[in-house]
Amino acid sequence: MCPSAPPPLPVLILGGTTEASGLCRLLEHNSAFAPTLSLAGVTSNPHLPEMAVRLGGFGGPDGLQHWLTQNAIQAVIDATHPFAATMSHHVATACAALGLPLLRLERPAWKPVPGDMWHSVANLTAAASLLADPAGFGQRPLRVFLTTGRKEVAPFCMAPQHTYLLRSIEPPDPATLPSSTTVLSARGPFDYAAERALMKAHQIACLVTKNSGGSATFPKLEAARALGCPVIMIERPTHPPCPHVQTPAEALLWLQTHQAASTLRDV
Ligand code: NAP
Repeated sequence: MCPSAPPPLPVLILGGTTEASGLCRLLEHNSAFAPTLSLAGVTSNPHLPEMAVRLGGFGGPDGLQHWLTQNAIQAVIDATHPFAATMSHHVATACAALGLPLLRLERPAWKPVPGDMWHSVANLTAAASLLADPAGFGQRPLRVFLTTGRKEVAPFCMAPQHTYLLRSIEPPDPATLPSSTTVLSARGPFDYAAERALMKAHQIACLVTKNSGGSATFPKLEAARALGCPVIMIERPTHPPCPHVQTPAEALLWLQTHQAASTLRDV
């Protein structure tokens, strides 16, 4: 750093997504920022960037507010997963209380195209109810591919007539599974040929997924389209209103704008 350069701006990145990792790569060797990446600590062996990393919850909005103050954070990027709604609400509350700038970095949602047979629902319970519905999916036993995450399987116990293939990174708690469930441990990205082969081999007649967006897990939707397989699509929860961008490069630009503004304030 040259002698007249302003001190690096302390920023917090709430991660757990490809977008957060992408932003970390952009900031790793950028002397204008002193970033900390925060992970919930739910995935074993996460890929860690070359920067300060903290693991585990903050203890709610108050704990987060305390941590932000203690670490003199000047800007926050919420790059948590589109379905991590609790954390997004907590960070919005803490940043509002401290008057800290907050940016949401979130990839766009998937949109159906001709050939897709999507049934959009608001949440997991609604997805499970659709599968249980005796006038609909529940009429006869189906082979259902669940890609909703290991902690979000229990609601499907209300539709025990089906046989489930659950794919998750970490093993699920067996007590939460519908009686007829096969577990497949795998971490994306997944490719189209493999997804199609998997769905054919298991004779999948319905795919259940969250509308996570992104390319890493998109091929399952292309495979479902090719196989004429209906999809129960769980749409995203709402997030608190705040400025938002879709790519790490846009988030870096936003940080640079704040860095420039804070330098001007300090002159
Ligand atoms: P959540 O329901 O929004 O958060 C639950 C609690 O976990 C929060 O209240 C917070 O604890 C803690 N937490 C969440 N993200 C954190 C972070 N980045 N750093 C520190 N603490 C965090 O979140 P979730 O759905 O359990 O997801 C947990 C993490 O996995 C998120 O970081 C998310 O990006 C990632 N992820 C989630 C999904 C998904 O489908 N939900 C998928 C892929 C990745 P305190 O209240 O104690 O601060």
